[in-house]
Amino acid sequence: MREYSYWLDTLPNRESGESRIASPKSRATTGESRISNPESRATASESRIPNPESRATTGESRIPNPESRWDVAIVGAGYTGLSAARHLARAGATVVVLEREEIGWGASSRNGGQVLTGLRLEPAALVARFGEARARQLFDAALESIARLETLVAEEAIDCEYTRTGHIQAAWKPAHFDAFRDQQALLARVFNHRVHLVSRADQRSEIGTGTYHGVLVDERSGGLNPARYVHGLAAAAARSGAAIVPGAAVTRVERDAGGWRVTTVKGVVDARDVLLATNGYTNGAAPALQRRFVPIGSYIIATEPLGADRANALLPRRRMAFDSKHFLYYFRVTRDHRLLFGGRAEFARADADTTRRAAAILRDGMIAVFPELAGAGVEYAWGGNVAFTRDQMPRAGKLDDMYYAGGYGGHGVAMATYLGEQIARRIAGEPIDHPLFDDRFRALPMYRGTPWFLPLVGAYYQVKDWLQ
Ligand SMILES: Cc1cc2nc3c(=O)[nH]c(=O)nc-3n(C[C@H](O)[C@H](O)[C@H](O)COP(=O)(O)OP(=O)(O)OC[C@H]3O[C@@H](n4cnc5c(N)ncnc54)[C@H](O)[C@@H]3O)c2cc1C
Repeated sequence: MREYSYWLDTLPNRESGESRIASPKSRATTGESRISNPESRATASESRIPNPESRATTGESRIPNPESRWDVAIVGAGYTGLSAARHLARAGATVVVLEREEIGWGASSRNGGQVLTGLRLEPAALVARFGEARARQLFDAALESIARLETLVAEEAIDCEYTRTGHIQAAWKPAHFDAFRDQQALLARVFNHRVHLVSRADQRSEIGTGTYHGVLVDERSGGLNPARYVHGLAAAAARSGAAIVPGAAVTRVERDAGGWRVTTVKGVVDARDVLLATNGYTNGAAPALQRRFVPIGSYIIATEPLGADRANALLPRRRMAFDSKHFLYYFRVTRDHRLLFGGRAEFARADADTTRRAAAILRDGMIAVFPELAGAGVEYAWGGNVAFTRDQMPRAGKLDDMYYAGGYGGHGVAMATYLGEQIARRIAGEPIDHPLFDDRFRALPMYRGTPWFLPLVGAYYQVKDWLQ
């Protein structure tokens, strides 16, 4: 079993134009994965291939023009940082994106690729917390983020398998299906958003299992290949003029004569503005943000290719899927007919140990949902960090005079792309406001970046899953 994201093996091989998945032989010779192998990383970024597309997706080997002062330095090359970089470069700013590892190395190449309507908080919780008018604004912003992603993919011709598949939410208990009815009514009344319900008796048209108690279907959602998307976004940012420097871990950010001095392991960058786009991987280089984002692991396993017929029997309409538990399962079928099955199986930051334990838990979960997969091989398992905020709402704004965006709570493929762009518009000087802008983002009390309370929170939600 391989312990790094399946998606990276679907990236086109630069020389042949074929993905690694298409050629098991080339996979065998390139080893574990391009990114986890530091030697291959060095050759990828240092060889100057004259093709601009390939240079764009591996980035610059060193910081260009070390003497110059940049308009904006962006920390982190995931969806947030790259979409901001693209916008700023198109607006005429000089932009450098500093990434500790490789382009897309964080959650942006490890996620489930589900492009979902709504926010992390359910519609009823949004209304209860913010009132109907503001809840509607926030929900609309999430819908706008999907529309924006679709436009961006089309405009930049990003080959990331984006399809408007729709999503299903499956009821884990009979009472959850009753709650879906209330949700359907609320979505129509407050948010003018239509979804439909399929009862347990009819659900096999949507999902090949009797485990669930009916499903809610939302046709507006979509799915994509996250690694192809993040590399497409990087190529688009580079074409627009942004410099992207992998292997440039930022160690310190300090005020300096009306701007910022950003120290990296590859040298120092002077910039007028700084955008922190580090989300679930925020570290001591951004201590203020570290006190506001809580990193939590999310994990995925991928089966061997099942063949079209077996895969279609699991999710006949190839929709994105997740269920109604707090410790939810999310799943989908890939282009090469694997089932990807994910969940918050471990309530801790992702590392090799938690990933191994989570893989075993997820395999059991997958077989409980789809017993016919008991004999199917699991070929990949991986984990990544999402970032939660205290109120589970994403936000962007200014913190200690630096810009930031993040806190998507596992709901960030479209939202990170979108908020990255919104905050870039503000950095570029547009007089815009946005319901998700927050310049007074409060720190979590008694928290400095080590989430000591996660086991307690995990236990709390486990009990809620038993009771509700
Ligand atoms: C397993 C998993 C499944 C998910 N599934 C979904 C899904 O199906 N749908 C959905 O909408 N969302 C999903 N998400 C969430 C989504 O992937 C994230 O919200 C999104 O990718 C966040 O993008 P980002 O650019 O803000 O952060 P990331 O992509 O995490 O990028 C942050 C980057 O910052 C870099 N960095 C950190 N510190 C430094 C430093 N000091 N110097 C330089 N660089 C630094 C990191 O190396 C990293 O590459 C999932 C996440 C995970 C982990």
